[in-house]
Amino acid sequence: MSQPIKTAFTITPKADRISAAEREELLKAPGFGRVFSEHMAVVTYTEGKGWHTPEILPRQPLQLDPAASVLHYAQEIFEGMKAYRSPTGEPLLFRPDANARRFRRSAERMAMAQVPEELFLDAVKQLVKIDADWIPAPEVGTLYIRPFMIATEVALGVKPSAEYKFIVIACAAGDYFSKDAGPVTVWVEENTVRASRGGTGEAKCGGNYAASLTAQQEAKENGCHQVLFLDASERKWIEEMGGMNIVAALDDGSLLTPPLKGTILHGITRDSLLTLARSQGLTVREEPYAIDQLYADIASGRLRELFACGTAAVVTPIGTLKTSKGEHVISKETGAVTASLRQALCDMQFGRTHDTQGWVHTV
Ligand code: PMP
Repeated sequence: MSQPIKTAFTITPKADRISAAEREELLKAPGFGRVFSEHMAVVTYTEGKGWHTPEILPRQPLQLDPAASVLHYAQEIFEGMKAYRSPTGEPLLFRPDANARRFRRSAERMAMAQVPEELFLDAVKQLVKIDADWIPAPEVGTLYIRPFMIATEVALGVKPSAEYKFIVIACAAGDYFSKDAGPVTVWVEENTVRASRGGTGEAKCGGNYAASLTAQQEAKENGCHQVLFLDASERKWIEEMGGMNIVAALDDGSLLTPPLKGTILHGITRDSLLTLARSQGLTVREEPYAIDQLYADIASGRLRELFACGTAAVVTPIGTLKTSKGEHVISKETGAVTASLRQALCDMQFGRTHDTQGWVHTV
């Protein structure tokens, strides 16, 4: 469907760049998803021509025809990854090739053009290079990178678009959840579902997130930070959360997490943690976990810790599960397994420990 691109990026730097003092102020407490860097990467796809015109431009609004097919039939996919500042100040990326591969799989599911892996990586690296000053200090956070692709053909017929834009933007990111809050409270969603067998749950497409928002609203109304979704057919098995995977640490020292069988996003943080845990000698089981069994394991003490994991959330302890019928309290403290996995992952991502896995790329 697409041809590899040979052309290098044309770079048009922003003329009136924000002063260093102003940027520093913005980066002190950036929150999440509001303080954007100053440039964007844009590459265009046209059927018959392939990918062309790779550009780094000052960040600016897009011009879209009102009949652009993304606005009607939601051919849209995205990725989420981060640039970290190393102890010597260099920008680091964590497993960007895994994001590039997942982007290709998402594109395939949504019948969109494939972005070649090297183009994906080049776009991300070029943007991080020009906006490296926007990576916050390690004690504050990271630069969150958002590659995405939209269907831009002007056509109202229902069919795969013949034109696409692949765009990369970035924003400064502090903690996703408030630092002082301790373990989060999670709403177990018993009504709506996020994904079904044969659906798009494994793709990182915008529609999955639109479908999860009523549950997220319900969670908030019930004093919860996040949602845990159950499977679509039986409402029996735990799947994943609105924007992160879920892992349990059991009293026999093993980790248990639902298997990737078509409805759950293949989280790169999940995969990294399971790999690190296995390399530390922990037993890791990727097996279906029934919500009623999970409640029973909380009550009996078999379940020691429960945590969420994802690029934005990193590793976040879950203290309480809440439903319309009541609460299941796990702990008010962060458990030892959760804390040590989070530390091991962050040390690697920020370049503080030796990268034993070949996961860290210097930009
Ligand atoms: N599940 C969902 C639904 C997500 O949106 C994310 C965030 N990308 C994850 C899991 C975690 O994936 P990753 O570790 O690759 O960020």
